[in-house]
Amino acid sequence: MCRMASEAGVDLAALDNLEVVGRCGCGGCPTVFFRIPVAGHAERDLIEFSGHDGFGAVGTVLLTSDAGLSQLEVYSADGHEPLALPQGSTLVRVAAV
Ligand SMILES: [Zn+2]
Repeated sequence: MCRMASEAGVDLAALDNLEVVGRCGCGGCPTVFFRIPVAGHAERDLIEFSGHDGFGAVGTVLLTSDAGLSQLEVYSADGHEPLALPQGSTLVRVAAV
């Protein structure tokens, strides 16, 4: 998370005030929300990494909105589930499209 924020140019001091306010409802992934979605505050991808959680390939995306960091999405890139946060040593930055 710190590496993602750092490479995205986010002020790391802002992470101290970041709180998890919700989790993905699927029950099988570690995706967390830092803000309650607000109408009119569209989210956009800030930075993406791919990695491995020990069971398969996972993608992680840090999202932001006009109000600040909004979500850390973790998804299965190969269909395996449940999934976990990728091991830090496996992270590779995905080029922005
Ligand atoms: Zn989920």
